[in-house]
Amino acid sequence: MATKARGRKGRAPYGARGTRRGRTGPLGRPGVRRAIVGAWAVVVAASVGFLAMRAFDERAFVPSQPVSEPSRPPAVAAEAPPSAQHQSPSRPADLPPAARAPLGIAAPVDMPGQTASSVPPPSAVTADEIPYDSRPAWVRFAATPPKGASKPAIAIVIDDVGVAKGELGALLKLEAPVTFAVMGYADNMRDFSRKARSGGHELMVHVPMEPMGKADPGPNALTVGLAPEEIVKRLRWHLDRQEDYVGVNNHMGSRFTADGAGMAVVAAELKQRGLLFLDSRTSADSVGEAAAREAGLPTASRDVFLDNEIGASAIEAQLVLAERKARESGLAIAIGHPHALTVEAIARFMPQAKARGIVFIPLSSAVARRSGLPPPDQVRVPEKGQGGAVMPSSSSPAIPPPPPRPTRVAVPLPGTKPVPAPLPPTPAAGDTEANGDAEATGADGTRSGSPLPPRG
Ligand SMILES: [Zn+2]
Repeated sequence: MATKARGRKGRAPYGARGTRRGRTGPLGRPGVRRAIVGAWAVVVAASVGFLAMRAFDERAFVPSQPVSEPSRPPAVAAEAPPSAQHQSPSRPADLPPAARAPLGIAAPVDMPGQTASSVPPPSAVTADEIPYDSRPAWVRFAATPPKGASKPAIAIVIDDVGVAKGELGALLKLEAPVTFAVMGYADNMRDFSRKARSGGHELMVHVPMEPMGKADPGPNALTVGLAPEEIVKRLRWHLDRQEDYVGVNNHMGSRFTADGAGMAVVAAELKQRGLLFLDSRTSADSVGEAAAREAGLPTASRDVFLDNEIGASAIEAQLVLAERKARESGLAIAIGHPHALTVEAIARFMPQAKARGIVFIPLSSAVARRSGLPPPDQVRVPEKGQGGAVMPSSSSPAIPPPPPRPTRVAVPLPGTKPVPAPLPPTPAAGDTEANGDAEATGADGTRSGSPLPPRG
């Protein structure tokens, strides 16, 4: 008996159109009365269900006409038709088909003008996707600075990127924005460069220049004995190997950057390309920033070397020094290298310093600030058909458009492809400069002289 009742109980909800809720109420007693009450409950439940379906349907698919009484004009019937609510309790048998009717007719009858009318939202198109963009490269390829312009800011630059490919993955995991100075002679950096930029980082080209000591700066380095044409030729060789960068800084170069004539040649070429120049300041005698400013480039000098001494506590001390300088003057430019200890220290430092009120900015924003220019993201995009200079540059009236670039393809999402297998470094394998850049700096890695005060 008990089993049989349970069996009926189990079957009944599937046969009835109602819900379980309709059956659970009056199920206390067996017999005929129970069957009558049950049937009535099914009817009531079906009505309730119908009302619920109507309410849902009318919200989702606004019917353009009443289901069974076309007494109202379709325009008004966009509201829930009151007639349907009237009739529904009295005609439970028709309910399911009638309730579904609006589903079928809703699509064709409904609001003819609204199907494909979605207005494209104002897109966050990146600068380099604008084919008519004539802004200089240091603006076009600049990473967007975070908000908080009034906070003390640090720009972190990682030099010597791309010499050892095994380091690239860790660099991409750094919190943005960090600026990566890709070694000019490094091969196969396209994948890294795109991932870095799509991850909010910024790129520069790290150009090898002659040091005072015996260290080899690498292939096609700029040296003081070269004719101007050869300097330009070598510089172009580096610049043309990389892409989507905002500017240049020197690898080593304590000798070459002290040579005014040579640096003037470099600055003129960078000016032609709309690039900025960061003086790595490997020598207190460097004239790099002065030559760049003379040529009308956005320019600045490095404030702190992070890893002249490679050790966790030493690097942390330099990061703290950078933070102190940022608090004192508003901005610090710090250069490190892709050593594991450096990258780990930076990764730990960035969130902590942010919590203390420091903001990290891309180098382009830092250089703009030092050069009295607006941040790159505040430069207006020219309207289609309008070319010409858009920078309120104080220096030169016309900024020549950057050289034509290959058409951009879709930027791969970060992490979609593994970094390609490490390639053997180009000739100068041993010159990755644990201390090459720092050869002529003081033990604290700070520059000894600040040729120009920060300009806000
Ligand atoms: Zn370097």
